[in-house]
Amino acid sequence: MENYGIDLWADDNFFIDDGLVKINYASNPALIDIVRDIRAQDFKGPLLLRFPHLTKKQISKLFTLYKNAIKEYDYKGKFNAVFPLKVNQLPNFLLPLVKSGEEFGYGLEAGSKAELFLAMTYNKYGAPITINGFKDKEMIHMAFIAKKMGHDITIIIEGLTELEIILEVEKETSLPTPNVGIRVRLFNSGGGAWAKSGGIDSKFGLSSTEILEAYDLLKKSDLLLCLTMIHFHIGSAMTTIKPLKKALKESGHIYAELKNLGATNLSAINIGGGLTVEYSQYQRTTQYHLQEFANDVIFTLKNIAKQKGVEEPDIFTESGRFISANSTVLIAPVLELFSAEYEENNLRLKEVNPPLIEELNELYEDINRKTALEYMHDSMDHLESLLKLFDLGYIDLQDRSNAEILAQLIIKKSISLLEIEDYAELKRIDNKIQEKYLLNFSIFQSLPDLWGIDQEFPIMPITHLNKKPTRSASLWDITCDSDGEIEFNAKKPLYLHDVDLEKEEYYLAFFNVGAYQDTLGMKHNLFSHPTEVNVVFQNNELKLEKIIESQKIIDILEDIDYDTNEIKGILQKNLDKSTYEILEKYLNENSYLKTAWSYNE
Ligand SMILES: *Cc1c(COP(=O)(O)O)cnc(C)c1O
Repeated sequence: MENYGIDLWADDNFFIDDGLVKINYASNPALIDIVRDIRAQDFKGPLLLRFPHLTKKQISKLFTLYKNAIKEYDYKGKFNAVFPLKVNQLPNFLLPLVKSGEEFGYGLEAGSKAELFLAMTYNKYGAPITINGFKDKEMIHMAFIAKKMGHDITIIIEGLTELEIILEVEKETSLPTPNVGIRVRLFNSGGGAWAKSGGIDSKFGLSSTEILEAYDLLKKSDLLLCLTMIHFHIGSAMTTIKPLKKALKESGHIYAELKNLGATNLSAINIGGGLTVEYSQYQRTTQYHLQEFANDVIFTLKNIAKQKGVEEPDIFTESGRFISANSTVLIAPVLELFSAEYEENNLRLKEVNPPLIEELNELYEDINRKTALEYMHDSMDHLESLLKLFDLGYIDLQDRSNAEILAQLIIKKSISLLEIEDYAELKRIDNKIQEKYLLNFSIFQSLPDLWGIDQEFPIMPITHLNKKPTRSASLWDITCDSDGEIEFNAKKPLYLHDVDLEKEEYYLAFFNVGAYQDTLGMKHNLFSHPTEVNVVFQNNELKLEKIIESQKIIDILEDIDYDTNEIKGILQKNLDKSTYEILEKYLNENSYLKTAWSYNE
């Protein structure tokens, strides 16, 4: 685990060189240089670095995979893709995506009215728009207007009621009718945490009876020619390909049946999203290769078309995670190491100490490579006994402090003496000798899926990588919530460096955070979105674009509907002018902590 699994999850986008994490692009800048550059401009707290070149790489990869597969099987249908906006709607991410996608005709997918406004505004003409999710009349009306604007738009219905509303709007307005797609409720559901997206008791889609009713309704209303697409989405982050194959067969047959029934314009199968990226630092979890995935899609649909004697359908995909996850890296400064206060010069040994403390002190003085492990065990036992003695009233606070310091010093010294080779020895006692790292960020705001659904993200320091990490680490965020913690996990151990933050800076990076985290995150403790920056390359030169600073405290308060003039007024009334002015300055800063480092800068 010395390279933090970078070969597994980084997809060659980042590499370690000279002890630093560097970007495998253009002039190979180190992440730490970018971080220093931004912080020197007085942006403090956690940072979100976005890399539009990686989004472009993913878009291009997706289209290439299907191009290869179509060629290999001499497939007659066309390939189309849309980006599902719910995965990341932020402008710093989205606007470069739209630009990069233009040459491929890459479109957008909207799941709400707000997202549909974004799609209508920013989608390139000629690229498709699809609409999923539950819709009301207003949203369907918007789709008609988008069609009138010239967009190639498909409303994918989740139920018969939505079709009835489409027919109403068609009658009541003179607007052109968008294409209609049908989301099918499949018998074969997907796997993973999101299996509820597909499957027979899924929240979404039409049953076979409803599909036939929809067909009749369209035919009766003379709108059968609007029916162009069959859609399914079986779930996110698929780690195997098997559920997709089953879903493809089922939906392929539904497509062919409807076509043979008389749905002449039906021409596409939309296979939803679900392509994953590797999140694990420890072992490969994705059990398919991307090209294999695309080949299976094409091969399966080709066979069904042949069997039923219909045209090979065009294919749409809506993979979001695959496109956006690796575009964004979260970087959080380490503020404090829990054991930092346990320094030798803080010891206050007495003339005469309790016997166990004398023993601890001897262990500390005698420790060597051979005895390190044994002494470490002993010291932990002694500490436990001494804490009990304190509870019973036999030792005082000064003794207790000495005991804690000595035990920590012994742990630190043993770890450095052990010159850890394979961590095996250390592993047996990892749980007891963890170091806790306090990070200037909020897990609730920046890694909501880690908190909510135990999603793993690759974590590593961005410097010090030419030194052995020796501390089994658990991470604390700065919210005052005990869930704001990433505990040490012996099965997936994270080792970090023993650093002296008075003398050196230490930052942790969380990778693959570009999918879902940005807008799922919440303002727990009123920590807002970190400062974000687009890192772009022009002619090999690195440029920092569109720096969006983390929200000011005053704006966060306004966001949750406080009258900020009232807040200012009350403070002003109760303080003298110069004190109030200091507070006002603080109100206009973000709420992340300022480190000694950032003060000195
Ligand atoms: C969420 C969603 C997607 C995107 O899924 P990913 O796993 O991010 O690829 C695609 N289509 C629909 C209908 C969705 O709800």
